[in-house]
Amino acid sequence: MTVLAVSGLCKSFGGVQAVQDVGFSVAAGELLALIGPNGAGKSTCFNMLNGQLRPDGGSITLLGRSLIGMAPRDIWRLGVGRTFQITATFNSMTVRENIQMALLSHHNRLISFWRPATEMYRDEAMALLERVGMADQSERPCGILAYGDLKRVELAVALANQPGLLLMDEPTAGMAPNERIALMGLTARLARQDNIAVLFTEHDMDVVFAQADRIIVLNRGRLIAEGSPEEVRANPEVQAVYLGSGATYAAVEGH
Ligand code: ADP
Ligand code: MG
Repeated sequence: MTVLAVSGLCKSFGGVQAVQDVGFSVAAGELLALIGPNGAGKSTCFNMLNGQLRPDGGSITLLGRSLIGMAPRDIWRLGVGRTFQITATFNSMTVRENIQMALLSHHNRLISFWRPATEMYRDEAMALLERVGMADQSERPCGILAYGDLKRVELAVALANQPGLLLMDEPTAGMAPNERIALMGLTARLARQDNIAVLFTEHDMDVVFAQADRIIVLNRGRLIAEGSPEEVRANPEVQAVYLGSGATYAAVEGH
């Protein structure tokens, strides 16, 4: 089932054509990686999908419904989750309280006068924390968590909204290589369990090739390749684009 369908997407900034005629789709439970060198237009694509930027042209549909012109908050309400680039957590609250707040927000409820806030969605919050492996740290304030643990809390916050689509622009930025693989592996498992479509960017090609079901490659605003990790790895144009950045090219080649 197609969750997100994009076609003919365009965006210019002054004379710079940041995104030109980009089209792709993401299915439920699928992890699609959007890769490309710096300045290729990846973040511009994300910002059009989440409503922060209005496209110059093209269409974006979520389960057949157009998202063009919708505010970010309304897109979020339709079940489009964003993770990690915004720190969604409140540092002084505990891990569990953060998830409870996210659940309250998702269910559109205010804290009740008749029921202590500490009890609302407590079990649901703990169940989500179990899923991301953070139940044992539920009573710690978010402000003292290790960076990788905070990312897992942010993933639970995103899941509290029961998203049909997760948009993740460089979710593992600032993390050590082994932590990157672990976080994207966890994201992949949870997305498949819940049938969530995931679009993500990632610089580390080991993570991309290990976790993506399919890859699309942007260069200078245009899509130059699409396929399975094996197909994209073997694509001469992709290899040529990555030739400029030696380390990444080695990863594309699979050395
Ligand atoms: P990526 O995320 O792939 O590194 P971006 O989408 O951030 O690439 O940028 C694509 C191009 O658009 C770059 O040339 C960048 O300088 C330009 N660009 C992005 N955002 C803006 C903006 N708000 N104003 C002007 N130029 C921008
Ligand atoms: Mg970017």
